[in-house]
Amino acid sequence: MTAHDLPTSTIDIVGGGIGGLVAALSLHEHGYDVVVHESVEQVQPLGVGINLLPHAVRELDALGLLDDLEASAVTPSTLAYFTAHGQSIWDEPRGRAAGYNWPQLSIHRGTLQMILHDAALQRLGPERVITGHHLVDVVSDDSGATVTYHRRHDDTTVQHRADIVVAADGIHSAVRRARHPHEGAPLWNGALLWRGAVAHAPILDGRTMVWAGHPDQKFVAYPIADLDDGRQMINFIAEYRTADRDLPEREDWNRVGNLDDVLPRFTDWCFDWLDIPALIASAPQTFVFPMVDRDPLPTWNDGRVTLLGDAAHPMYPIGSNGASQAILDARVLTGCVLAHSNDLDTALAIYDARRRPATGAIVLANRGLGPEAPMQLVHERAPNGFTSIDDVISRDEILEVTEGYRRTAGFALEALAQGRSLVDADYSRTDA
Ligand SMILES: Cc1cc2nc3c(=O)[nH]c(=O)nc-3n(C[C@H](O)[C@H](O)[C@H](O)COP(=O)(O)OP(=O)(O)OC[C@H]3O[C@@H](n4cnc5c(N)ncnc54)[C@H](O)[C@@H]3O)c2cc1C
Repeated sequence: MTAHDLPTSTIDIVGGGIGGLVAALSLHEHGYDVVVHESVEQVQPLGVGINLLPHAVRELDALGLLDDLEASAVTPSTLAYFTAHGQSIWDEPRGRAAGYNWPQLSIHRGTLQMILHDAALQRLGPERVITGHHLVDVVSDDSGATVTYHRRHDDTTVQHRADIVVAADGIHSAVRRARHPHEGAPLWNGALLWRGAVAHAPILDGRTMVWAGHPDQKFVAYPIADLDDGRQMINFIAEYRTADRDLPEREDWNRVGNLDDVLPRFTDWCFDWLDIPALIASAPQTFVFPMVDRDPLPTWNDGRVTLLGDAAHPMYPIGSNGASQAILDARVLTGCVLAHSNDLDTALAIYDARRRPATGAIVLANRGLGPEAPMQLVHERAPNGFTSIDDVISRDEILEVTEGYRRTAGFALEALAQGRSLVDADYSRTDA
């Protein structure tokens, strides 16, 4: 291997996933010299469905991306909880229907990734969105950091110098591993998720996210695209919890699942409003992913190197927070760098102080079932069904959970009332 040097830049973003690309677009818009280094050689529209909550959509709107995203997404107006017998527990308005100025967006992750990637290519220029560069080392010093990348196409190493390095390198973050070598594999709660997308007749009103079952066995479905023939592309997650806690192999977003492992468990889930086994069986392909997270860290910073998105706070994929929180990280980081452009150490300290506790609270809330807690309560109290849901759980009890989760995740309606982008918030102090 030979070593080459790349030109110096102010901010190096490691990882061109959702969080890395939003950070790049955001910092670039505010005049920073940004380079993205992505590991894969060819960026592809991978994944299945993903949800963006209104506070994250507000930030994408501020970046001028809302029209493109909304044209390629579905805007759900209701979230509905059901039991494993298909009985209705609760429904609540979402997005604009709930009074937000911004919609919630349900979108294919690959579509989201490509919209962000194309915008980055256009705005930063192709020479600043570099693929095929896999971070192998990063060393911080008083004035910046030096990153070493393995360049895939010619099997060489290259070094890149930056004032700040933002590690947005996902759940298997090499930067996090280097700084916290004893963490080991992500923590697994035993649940396995089969994820897929299938063309299907609209479910209910075609604008509803459905959560059915309870945390030990659950089915989630929501539309991510309207199709020309009147059907919709329905994203689904069929999930059950095993007694295992040791991951047999490293989790991988692209691992193909076997329907025979999951379908028999859902045979009875045929409701008058949705035939779940038929929907699952019609999926051309599924991906199996374990419910993993990591403990919150005591700091994200090491000198001029910081973490963002899943690298910083991998969390259980419940409550629609994975991508949304990565986007908020990117915008708060931009605000902190803008507010302290002459003192980048302070900028990173304030970013850490604002985002680390906030996201750590969501990691922990998701371990405690997050917004799904009412489904567990109903399952415990009425495992065989009920005549009236009011005999099982009160609306106030459900509202307390769902409103509490909205506050924890930062999208309580009143928090977004003033309509200001997070970049413009006050970052003069570590506390909000
Ligand atoms: C292929 C793929 C498919 C996914 N599918 C889904 C899905 O269907 N539903 C869902 O909810 N979430 C999915 N996710 C996760 C989701 O994108 C994240 O949870 C969330 O958007 C937070 O984004 P992030 O930028 O932190 O991480 P990611 O979006 O995972 O991005 C991390 C990026 O860093 C790159 N990278 C990793 N290591 C290095 C390195 N050493 N050097 C340089 N670059 C590196 C990766 O290639 C990736 O592009 C998927 C992630 C990936 C990578």
